[in-house]
Amino acid sequence: MKILVINCGSSSLKYQLLDMEGEKLLAKGLCERIGIDGHLSHKPQNGKPVFDEDVAMPTHTEAIAAVLDKLTSAEYGVVSSMDEIGAVGHRVVHGGEKFAQSVLINDEVMAAISECIPLAPLHNPANITGIEACKAVMGDVPQVAVFDTAFHQTMPGKAFMYAIPYEYYSDLKVRRYGFHGTSHRYVSKQAAALLGKPLEELKLISCHMGNGSSICAIDGGKSVDTSMGFTPIAGLPMGTRCGDIDVSILEYLAANTGKDIKELTNILNKKSGVLGVSGVSSDFRDLDTAAGEGNERAALALDIFHYSVAKTIGAYAAAMNGVDGIIFTAGIGENSASTRAAICQYLTYLGIEICPVCNSKRGEDIIISTEDSKVKVMVIPTNEELVIARDTKELVEA
Ligand code: ADP
Repeated sequence: MKILVINCGSSSLKYQLLDMEGEKLLAKGLCERIGIDGHLSHKPQNGKPVFDEDVAMPTHTEAIAAVLDKLTSAEYGVVSSMDEIGAVGHRVVHGGEKFAQSVLINDEVMAAISECIPLAPLHNPANITGIEACKAVMGDVPQVAVFDTAFHQTMPGKAFMYAIPYEYYSDLKVRRYGFHGTSHRYVSKQAAALLGKPLEELKLISCHMGNGSSICAIDGGKSVDTSMGFTPIAGLPMGTRCGDIDVSILEYLAANTGKDIKELTNILNKKSGVLGVSGVSSDFRDLDTAAGEGNERAALALDIFHYSVAKTIGAYAAAMNGVDGIIFTAGIGENSASTRAAICQYLTYLGIEICPVCNSKRGEDIIISTEDSKVKVMVIPTNEELVIARDTKELVEA
């Protein structure tokens, strides 16, 4: 079965077409500036040329149509017709408490995704638009929703509740949801395979460190705690998000800057994190360079990040009363040996010892701790699209 995986944003749409026989990537690409003018970059994996040009995309429907046109075209295509695509899998950001697993999309599911819009006002509407656009262009091809939040629905109350009046949870659904669930689920499975042990017997801590970063405590294959919260702003300081801060700071800043809550929340989301502290960049490569040139605020921003990751790992080792393996993944986790080494320097009390030679490798699932290390440390490249395609295949075949 060939499966189209869609990750739809408000003005962008990322896609991959996978052949599930051998789980082979056939093509991938990105539509940008949807609703503005439109640009498509399409990369077939079969040796045909890359397409990278402006294409008019007044709405997501034209974007999907353009993607299908390229996927089936003689010059850039990888399939002979749309009929070869057996199903579409969508990344959906918020499934609230309704979805603990991926689901086949029907009217009822669409209504439930809509109900979660207040919880993810920027993301869920875009995801819905993507699903509707596929329906408009592809008709009755089965579609599946894979939620960022679903994996974390196994968290116990003590981990997901905030200590605020209970009715804010019961009436308004204020609780920790957690995100990056598809990634944490994938890398934990891969880690079990790499360690040669059943996932059910392992206590793992997964560190997804990219533009957005979150850490997840995974006990026996189930998420038991995670650092992002009601929204993805919580937990670690990130590229531009502040992570956990004292909530009273908002009132204090409002009083002293004349900015309202909306404006301040925007600053905490888009101008904070390592960008805010360093004043240099949200990209860790730029921070490494700047810190290397003696920029003290860039070095401080990196220190804050390493310290925060290490503290959270310590907290989750306590939450699970032990840890067998620590996983690094996503842009920073997969690529930055210096970040991994800096974080692990805090963890020698756990008996962790990093092998510098292994830590300098990249691109594959690998153990970077020494033979003697009491806790195994791993680098596992994430692959959220593959998880979405696997879930889609399983649900459609069932
Ligand atoms: P997203 O959260 O958008 O999916 P990624 O997981 O692709 O992001 O991570 C992107 C981030 O990864 C970049 O902003 C950059 O900070 C970081 N990154 C990528 N390569 C390196 C590298 N070699 N060294 C340090 N950081 C890197």
